[in-house]
Amino acid sequence: MKDIRLIENLKNTIISLDKGEMPEVSDLVLLLENYREPEIFGFARDLGREKALENYGNNVFIRGLIEVSNYCTKNCFYCGIRCGNKEAQRYRLDFEDIMNCCESGYNAGFRTFVMQGGEDPVFNDDFVCRTVAAIKNKYPDCAVTLSLGERSYSSYKLLKEAGADRYLLRHETATKEHYEKLHPKSSSFENRMECLYYLKELGYQTGAGFMVGSPWQTMENLANDLIFLKGFQPHMVGIGPFLPHSQTPFRDFPKGSAELTLFILSLVRIMLPKVLLPATTALGTREEGGRERGILHGANVIMPNLSPVEVRKKYMLYDNKLSSGAEASEGLEILRKSLEKIGYEIPVSRGDCLK
Ligand code: SAM
Ligand code: SF4
Repeated sequence: MKDIRLIENLKNTIISLDKGEMPEVSDLVLLLENYREPEIFGFARDLGREKALENYGNNVFIRGLIEVSNYCTKNCFYCGIRCGNKEAQRYRLDFEDIMNCCESGYNAGFRTFVMQGGEDPVFNDDFVCRTVAAIKNKYPDCAVTLSLGERSYSSYKLLKEAGADRYLLRHETATKEHYEKLHPKSSSFENRMECLYYLKELGYQTGAGFMVGSPWQTMENLANDLIFLKGFQPHMVGIGPFLPHSQTPFRDFPKGSAELTLFILSLVRIMLPKVLLPATTALGTREEGGRERGILHGANVIMPNLSPVEVRKKYMLYDNKLSSGAEASEGLEILRKSLEKIGYEIPVSRGDCLK
């Protein structure tokens, strides 16, 4: 039985997040260290869910995820499609492929398309601008989100001018020393952070985020992530457990915890009540029903896979990544039913951030 004063203290830390205050790092660390306390875990879940309902009602927004290329010039130690993985079977979608994905997605009710991929030089400004402009021209009622990694300010500007609405670029960790353990020397913490500020300045709805349980991550690192998010005020936050891939240097590290991921989702919802918060594929892969649990902890976005079926297994960021059933756009009815069971619905909407 935990000290009753400790429980009260931990609840007060959550309440201060709800009031818009930022607790001391030491208080956040204490809170994170005690996330398994049922009373605290439940308190954060209920408040997180209440905040999501207050802001977005019982809507869960869907995004059609198009995994456009698994070629990548980067070599992040955790990622299954890093350039150093010589076993990966590479593919890239062309203009027609991407337009076909959008067409089937539009017909299924998607009003946001997310083009995500490795840092593939073939996806240069000309190609991406042409594709974004064509999607926006054909589907003016849809939002286009890009998630194509680090690019220059001028590139982000061109893509924005071509019509891109949103950009997802997880910061991965707000602690430089930790960042350097997850990436080779050729990747720069400062550059990643700078990109996020560029995106915000250019008027993108901007998404940051991180993995929970990545190798060497400490509770201090996670507390720093929360503090960074509070200061940066992103429109979207992508959070999922780290899951190992057998052809990466991190193959032997344990999976990140689903419970800690859920707890952090609640804290982020409490701290940033209007944020768009996906219940990620990684969470659904980590635990059966993980995405539905994510929604019950305050998430309000799900990103089913719209990529052509034949390439899905090649976009393998981690072992056993889900890409069928309710994960897939063709499984939308399964997803709809499983959300209905917990009291949520999927609107036909762009689902913009309320900010
Ligand atoms: N290349 C772009 C980038 O890095 O921003 C977009 C694609 S990248 C695959 C998208 C996200 O996948 C990364 O930001 C990372 O957090 C996540 N990811 C990569 N490997 C992972 C792993 N092993 N477990 C969980 N998430 C992973
Ligand atoms: Fe490339 Fe993104 Fe994977 Fe890093 S996380 S290797 S940038 S696809």
